[in-house]
Amino acid sequence: MVPRFWRKIKYRYDVVASYCENCGNYYYPQREICPKCRRKGKIKDAKICDEGRVLSYTILDGKCIALVELENGTKMLTEVCGKVEIGSKVRKAFRRYGEESEDGIIYYGTKFVPIESDKKQKA
Ligand SMILES: [Zn+2]
Repeated sequence: MVPRFWRKIKYRYDVVASYCENCGNYYYPQREICPKCRRKGKIKDAKICDEGRVLSYTILDGKCIALVELENGTKMLTEVCGKVEIGSKVRKAFRRYGEESEDGIIYYGTKFVPIESDKKQKA
């Protein structure tokens, strides 16, 4: 089974989340059914912004897992490649997760990278 949204991401290089009009929650990765509302949920696509801010983070198995708040208020739990602090600005970057051998579909996921601050460069 190949989830449709991965195909979309592959061709559009755009990150899309699901938004449930019934309960007002954003879901990423996308869901076809709202886990809260189930059949009552009204799922539609919602674009994820390019940049966000780190609200909190934790290091798990050497990976930085951060709660990122995007410009449109969407909060998502995501991996951040690089060193961040609370309040750090980050932007999305695509990473390839792997390949599906059967039909050659490549799975992409979104990770975030810190936006380099000018201070560091000039010092
Ligand atoms: Zn819902």
